[in-house]
Amino acid sequence: MSGKRQRYLEEMGLAPVWRLRAMGAPAQPEGEHAPDTPAPSAMRASSSAVSAPAHGFDPAAKPDLADDRAAGILRMDWTALKAAVKGCTACGLRKGCTQTVFGVGDEQADWLLVGEAPGSEEDARGEPFVGQAGRLLDNMLAAIGLRRGDNVYICNVLKCRPPGNRNPEPFEVAQCSPHLARQLALIEPKLILAMGRFAVQTLLGTEASIASLRGRLHRYQGVPLVVTYHPAYLLRNLPDKAKAWEDLCFARRTIAAL
Ligand code: URA
Repeated sequence: MSGKRQRYLEEMGLAPVWRLRAMGAPAQPEGEHAPDTPAPSAMRASSSAVSAPAHGFDPAAKPDLADDRAAGILRMDWTALKAAVKGCTACGLRKGCTQTVFGVGDEQADWLLVGEAPGSEEDARGEPFVGQAGRLLDNMLAAIGLRRGDNVYICNVLKCRPPGNRNPEPFEVAQCSPHLARQLALIEPKLILAMGRFAVQTLLGTEASIASLRGRLHRYQGVPLVVTYHPAYLLRNLPDKAKAWEDLCFARRTIAAL
């Protein structure tokens, strides 16, 4: 291993794991993180974009309008999509945030990373994952020879910061999901890394735990999808960095085998 990679791994707290694993003692997935807030009951946008039921609000109230809006978004090109996100007021979040945070990186990337929602630094800078969790994410990417913007695209389920970094509400996810679906369709990545339960629930339409979903390959509209912990969670739960490292290695093996 190069000195540079060793340093990245040390920064992630993974160097001892690397040595352990090299000695043939792989870390096993253990119990799941008990979320500090209850899982939302209806967060999924489902993997079938246009026809997906928009859970968390009552689509019967205005079915045509909701479908028309989603269908319109799902036909947009990059320019139209960026403008739509910038001008979006479909939920209440835009009123309370500084700016929208669309996504960053290579629009033809093989790797697509999906997080939850902008935090305060992302809100101030207009770019996803630029705070503490983002620094960890950058180090994790560097450890597998990747960096943001270079064959990697990073975005969130929500494009606007929830006040006080609270969890996304089902209605907000439902309103923002077509933007994410269109980003995915335009990028056509080879692999999606879904980071944390909001990304996983939105893309896979399941409320199953991260612990039960990680370590095997899922698909979002045919695109291989790997489930892993959210970097912010990893900052609070250092031992699980080893599991995230396993997930990254699994993702890298998956993409290499395509
Ligand atoms: N957490 C996220 O999910 N996304 C960001 O952009 C920053 C923190």
